[in-house]
Amino acid sequence: MPLDEYRRKRDFSKTPEPSGDGKPRARRGGKPKPLYFCVQKHLASRLHYDLRLEHDGVLLSWAVPKGPSLDHRDRHLAVRTEDHPREYGDFEGVIPEGYGQGIVMLWDYGAWSPEVDDVGEALGKGDLKFALDGYKLKGSWALVRTRDRPDTSPSQRGRSWLLIKHRDFWSGALDITAFAPLSVKSEGDFDDILAADLPDVWVTGRAAARGGATGKALREIIEKAAAKKLARDDRESAP
Ligand code: MN
Repeated sequence: MPLDEYRRKRDFSKTPEPSGDGKPRARRGGKPKPLYFCVQKHLASRLHYDLRLEHDGVLLSWAVPKGPSLDHRDRHLAVRTEDHPREYGDFEGVIPEGYGQGIVMLWDYGAWSPEVDDVGEALGKGDLKFALDGYKLKGSWALVRTRDRPDTSPSQRGRSWLLIKHRDFWSGALDITAFAPLSVKSEGDFDDILAADLPDVWVTGRAAARGGATGKALREIIEKAAAKKLARDDRESAP
């Protein structure tokens, strides 16, 4: 079962993430439906971008710490993570505790198409070529698995890939994560997503107590979110 690892890591009484128990949508005949992809910007213990490609009813997933780059010379680490349910694809919100605790932003989505004959075989070989047609990411890309180092732990073996933009009309020097940092679902930033959700929990929660750059970024986001929520509450309670 491809979603076992996904479910094992989560307590669905505590996280707003979908459990993936929903019936897979029946495919009607006729033209094949385009395959869905998304990138979720995830401020967890560290900021990363989760690239997800629909395949065989689930979302194949890679966590890309630096995010996607449009520069064909870049090779950004992409760590293969557990398959996610298809319903996860438009999730945006706050994971208050547990695995993946943090804020999830739907940073991009659209259709993807394999540029290989057989996706399963390409995954096995560790060389998947594909095209993206999102709001931010377009054109031809590759995910290439790297060789494990001798000290790679058994659980991490085979998980290390590189995300590479092929040189095409859509490649270039534009820093897409800086140029287009916001949500394609809510148009907001992390603090807006938090303000729409549970900033109170977070102000007092242990999430704010984290050290390092992530902790600092998070404290700023929490402050902004609390201010936005306050302004909104004031507006709503105004006569
Ligand atoms: Mn993640």
